[in-house]
Amino acid sequence: MQFTHHISRLVVFLTLVFLAIAPGAPALAEGQSFFSSIISPEQEARMGREQHPIILKQFGGAYEDPALNRYVTSIGELLLRTTETPNAAFTFTILNSPVVNAFALPGGYVYVTRGLVALADNEAQLAGVLAHEIGHVTARHSAQRYGQSMAATIGLTFLGLLAESKELNQVAGLGANLFLKSYSRDHEFEADKLGLIYMSRAGFSPDGMTDFLGNLKAHDELQKKLIGQGGFDPLMGLLSTHPRTVDRVERAYAAAHVSPPPDPIIARDVYLQQIDGLLYGDDPAQGYVRGQSFIHPLLKIRFEVPEGFILTNAEEAVIARNKSGARIIFNAAQRPQGQNIDAYLTRTWFPNQQLGDMETINVNGFPAVTATARVETDDGIMDLRLIAIAYDAALVYRFMFVSPPRETSALNMEFRRTTYSFHTISDVEAAAIKPLRLVIETVESGDSIEEFASRMPYETYRLERFKVLNGLSKGGEAYLGNKVKLVVE
Ligand SMILES: [Zn+2]
Repeated sequence: MQFTHHISRLVVFLTLVFLAIAPGAPALAEGQSFFSSIISPEQEARMGREQHPIILKQFGGAYEDPALNRYVTSIGELLLRTTETPNAAFTFTILNSPVVNAFALPGGYVYVTRGLVALADNEAQLAGVLAHEIGHVTARHSAQRYGQSMAATIGLTFLGLLAESKELNQVAGLGANLFLKSYSRDHEFEADKLGLIYMSRAGFSPDGMTDFLGNLKAHDELQKKLIGQGGFDPLMGLLSTHPRTVDRVERAYAAAHVSPPPDPIIARDVYLQQIDGLLYGDDPAQGYVRGQSFIHPLLKIRFEVPEGFILTNAEEAVIARNKSGARIIFNAAQRPQGQNIDAYLTRTWFPNQQLGDMETINVNGFPAVTATARVETDDGIMDLRLIAIAYDAALVYRFMFVSPPRETSALNMEFRRTTYSFHTISDVEAAAIKPLRLVIETVESGDSIEEFASRMPYETYRLERFKVLNGLSKGGEAYLGNKVKLVVE
């Protein structure tokens, strides 16, 4: 969670809409969608340029490691030289996010998260991800997709704007960027096919693509176990934006009519050397999710959410969801100078809304105010419990508890507990929370998978985590002289 406003995103959306519906658009070619036909490559490049800073903001910024960035870019460039547009200007970025994802914007912006870089086990696997994303760009999928979903989204964006409430947008599920939406199966197939052609031309083992998909499946399965059944956030993962199976990638390979290069590049040791020391999990500047707790060591605050709620640390807010569709949205905001906390709630945060049960409370020493509301969202009627905590003269911390009406009374006590769990932490407590890092070790005699796993700083699923990280979920051993990845504090 960081202090940001996403008005800028609205401005970009609106700008793009006016740009796309400009008069004088050429007639449609048969089979071409309305929007893709009127978005020129120049406009695509502009879209990419405009969206790039927004993507950076949503995913914790670029991961600042010049050597690793050069390395990832060099693999991307190598693939790019084999495409239909070898001289196009591409920008490859590692995002400072622990989730495992990759995506592309029109105009040649390709992203991989550091969570994905950590999960990939060799150069060929990373090349497979980059080649697939480059395929989406060269086939101009993003521009087509953008056009198709734009009309539907713009009405909602206006609604969000009129409601003057960022949280209502989040309640309505509008937080996700258009470019992060799922590709169609046809687009996935084409991106795989193109990606496999590029990989093969550049000399990489095409197995890298399916091997990484295998690691990803194992990773997703473990995530599901870690956060409970049904709680997996489908917006967060690579398989949700790029719905694929090993079987479909293999069919794309057959359709690509390429043969594997002689002596294909896999480059495991080179790759592992490059990612040695990589930041793993949450970045301290964004705060940490630790089980049911959210802890921000720089803001020095902490709170707990009830069992059954899955915490995710998104850019605009910390969001926890449970199976029945209830949500807890936590973020920070600025209070206008001199405005008391009651007025803040009714005039600034939720103006023009009918609020009930307004009450002044004290949350661990901080003056606070609470109220309820009932709103209509895309998911139906929802009850809101709002809490505004006056942290100081300017800063407000806010909880918005969202529940389907049938769940509201059952969750009432849990939401209270979360409210009163909000407290500040000491410098000592803040300093005690260390970021995790990936280290590479060489297997020596007497080492075992179990022994390596036992050194990982987790309370549960240590062995499973070690196996997923090292691509050993489907079997395999830590052989003498081999290198392995470990997460350490
Ligand atoms: Zn894809």
